[in-house]
Amino acid sequence: MLGLRMPARDYDAIVVGASFGGLAVARQLRGHVLLLDRNEIGAVQTSACGTPLWVCEALGVTDSVLQVHESLSIRTPGRTVRYDLSAVPFCTFDYRAFCEGLLAQCRVRFLRTSVTGIQEGAVVTGEGRFTAPVIVDCSGWRRALTGGAEVPPGRRHHSFGLETHTSLQAEGLTFVLDRRLIPQGLGWIFPVGKGSLVGLGSYVGRSKLKPALERLLQDHGISASAYHGTYFPNRLLRPTVGRLFAVGDAAGQCLPLTAEGIRPALYFGGECGRVVQRILDGAVSLEAGLDAYRRVVARYRRPYRTLQLAQWIAAHTPTRWFALVTQLAATRPFLPRWWPRYGWFGRPERSGMPAAT
Ligand SMILES: Cc1cc2nc3c(=O)[nH]c(=O)nc-3n(C[C@H](O)[C@H](O)[C@H](O)COP(=O)(O)OP(=O)(O)OC[C@H]3O[C@@H](n4cnc5c(N)ncnc54)[C@H](O)[C@@H]3O)c2cc1C
Repeated sequence: MLGLRMPARDYDAIVVGASFGGLAVARQLRGHVLLLDRNEIGAVQTSACGTPLWVCEALGVTDSVLQVHESLSIRTPGRTVRYDLSAVPFCTFDYRAFCEGLLAQCRVRFLRTSVTGIQEGAVVTGEGRFTAPVIVDCSGWRRALTGGAEVPPGRRHHSFGLETHTSLQAEGLTFVLDRRLIPQGLGWIFPVGKGSLVGLGSYVGRSKLKPALERLLQDHGISASAYHGTYFPNRLLRPTVGRLFAVGDAAGQCLPLTAEGIRPALYFGGECGRVVQRILDGAVSLEAGLDAYRRVVARYRRPYRTLQLAQWIAAHTPTRWFALVTQLAATRPFLPRWWPRYGWFGRPERSGMPAAT
């Protein structure tokens, strides 16, 4: 009876989570692919949606861009440092339009349902159990399939961010470093065309940020609309668990320090998707595919460690020292050296953010 109501169905691949990571995987896949998410695609935004402009261009979703940014300011109590980003401009984009643009490039079956785990090789959902030879977990920090009890959210492995849309018309992207506002964290103001997203992030996973965020809003004489916030990982986790692939926040791929998680989820998602397609084509075995994806991620361990160290310094040294470092980093010859290196991470020509197949 149970089997009739919740029949096992077979797919070539199942992708859990239809946000940045999941859509980046799915757009690489041909065949009978099931994409699962508990929400409608693009309906629940958890991010300020800031990323280099070239990302939207490379993925063919420039329609989603709300505003382009050629400067970034870092504000501390004593000074404001301005970075010229024109070598690699950033943008803020509309989450729904971005996700729908990617979905339009996918040939998959999308099903809205909650995934509760994996049992005897089958993905267990509110709509029944589904089986496939290849399964990819892109469910964000909750890691619906690969998490288990390994890394519960907490201070060691997760940051927490909370933000709200406001009417503030700001110029350029701004980060705010002020211990009185948020110890071991930072604030941001991201203009999004009409108004700005204003938020706070705690590097040590403190989630009760609303009173401090309200103080930041008061400082600017603005009020909040709805709040959204969540955890995000701040160190690499395992990219494969048993026979499962993990991408994006599910694999801890959000960059430490800058909390940029969109670009890594898209980049590693594209790489994972290409590997999975090779498995589906019979060009490599599942084991070889898992190994190939692990090797792709392993190439980035050092930069992740460097950013992790920088995050630790930002969280633990006096703000005025960190302000001096940021000031130095904004000057020549430093800025033209590090900014393009950082800004081009994941660019198609260099490291292969894959185009749709
Ligand atoms: C406040 C805030 C602001 C941020 N701003 C930026 C920014 O400006 N730029 C940037 O690069 N990064 C930013 N980040 C980080 C970035 O949002 C994440 O790193 C990024 O969203 C990770 O993408 P993902 O696809 O791995 O996971 P997610 O975007 O978290 O997507 C996971 C998907 O899985 C689905 N899901 C989860 N559990 C289940 C389940 N059990 N069953 C079915 N579906 C499930 C969810 O509904 C969701 O659609 C921000 C984070 C926060 C919290």
